[in-house]
Amino acid sequence: MVRLYLSSDTSAVAAGADRVAEALRDRPGVEVIRTSSRGAFFLEPMVERDTPGGRIAWFNVTPDDVPRIVNGAGGVPVDQIPFLKEQTRVTFANFGVTRPLSLEDYRSHGGLKGLEAARSMSPEAIIEEVRLSGLRGRGGAAFPVWNKWDVARQAPAGRKYVVANADEGDAGTYCDRMVMEGEPFRLIEGMLICARAIGADSGYIYCRQEYPAAAGTLRAAIDEAERTGLLQLGRTPFRLEVVSGAGSYVCGEETALLESLEGRRGVVRAKPPYPAVSGLYGRPTIVSNVLTFATVPNILSRGGAWHASLGTERSRGTIPLQIGGRVKQPGLVEVPFGLTLRDVLDRFGGGMAPGARFKAVQVGGPLGSLFPESKLDIPICYDAFAEAGAILGHGGIVVYDHETDMVELARHFMAFTADESCGKCTPCRIGSVRGREILERIQAGRGTADDLALLADLGETMKTASLCALGGRAPYPVLTAIEHFPHEFSPHYS
Ligand code: SF4
Repeated sequence: MVRLYLSSDTSAVAAGADRVAEALRDRPGVEVIRTSSRGAFFLEPMVERDTPGGRIAWFNVTPDDVPRIVNGAGGVPVDQIPFLKEQTRVTFANFGVTRPLSLEDYRSHGGLKGLEAARSMSPEAIIEEVRLSGLRGRGGAAFPVWNKWDVARQAPAGRKYVVANADEGDAGTYCDRMVMEGEPFRLIEGMLICARAIGADSGYIYCRQEYPAAAGTLRAAIDEAERTGLLQLGRTPFRLEVVSGAGSYVCGEETALLESLEGRRGVVRAKPPYPAVSGLYGRPTIVSNVLTFATVPNILSRGGAWHASLGTERSRGTIPLQIGGRVKQPGLVEVPFGLTLRDVLDRFGGGMAPGARFKAVQVGGPLGSLFPESKLDIPICYDAFAEAGAILGHGGIVVYDHETDMVELARHFMAFTADESCGKCTPCRIGSVRGREILERIQAGRGTADDLALLADLGETMKTASLCALGGRAPYPVLTAIEHFPHEFSPHYS
């Protein structure tokens, strides 16, 4: 029997993986196993085959390649693929290897060891291990995870919630989706460890509507976890449910997400009180994004000190970067914090796509700063990015080429904020509309050099007076476009 592996991840399917699987299906003596994806999307569809020396792979496979794969002709050893070889895979170590819905695969590749360890530890000891690890929330604010957990743990006993923020709305990000589609038991395990640490009995995964495959996989994984008793925490079962969001970017903000979960419009709540004190239905709630929960099992199984040994002094562990835009090799790269943007783009992104010349890079989604080539030596860690007036956000890196119109890009991001603003505070609700209007005036050739001062003034007000990061970060793409690419704005002045 020839055993072939092929990813069922949405990106692999978009590249044609299902067509290849169909062509392989009725081949006698061939078994096709659908796995998670290694995240080397520029190589998908990628078919792998077991050999005594390890797996070998064929890239960008079409149905026409099926005969030579079945005959074993060609192929490259997977452990020799530079894009994969040079990564430090920790959270994504099993990706491309295991079947997403096989609890047996997950367990046999090191899964559930963190939960087993947590079951024999006190809540305080679990939180101490997370403190030692130096783990900071991977969603944007980068708040120490242990701190939130400890606040919720100390809240009076009663109903408490664990909520996974799976509303991955930043352009160019997909690592949460990969976890949910590829290793859903890792997310469930992380949430169970958190539930044990704070004493929660219920949880929700708030999954964006645009991820139907991820939601389906999660629901099937929860059924399997229920069936096998995995959700039993002590004497009480942990109740876990997937809830679909309605496509609003601001619902990625934890308090708007909670409003939405409670059945109301996703409007940001003022803080304090913080959700760890008063969150869902007024109860103590830990809201963390998928990647944060997915990082926790390894911390419990290998120890907080092991996690703290990776990365930089104040950004511990690894970060899965998602490289997209005009590069040769888009895909997911997991590396310790501290590499520079240039390292990542050259070594893993493979340089620019054919015919494209670098113009700018944006890290952290639509609210991220736009950087020119001279800023590529910034180390990828929370503090260096904060010092440079940038955010790491969810680790999405989008590269723009020489054909990009920076004025249009700035207008696009301000228009995005105007569309997605929840409307609760004036600087964001009105400021984003006025900002878009000024940029449209400049584009129409009716702007003046004073408009740039006006945008700077407006940006300052939005940064300092907005209630949440959507309004507070919205000016950054515009102001950095003006700062680094002023020559693109000046021809538009009247
Ligand atoms: S900054 Fe924007 S999204 Fe945030 S609360 Fe204010 S209006 Fe709502």
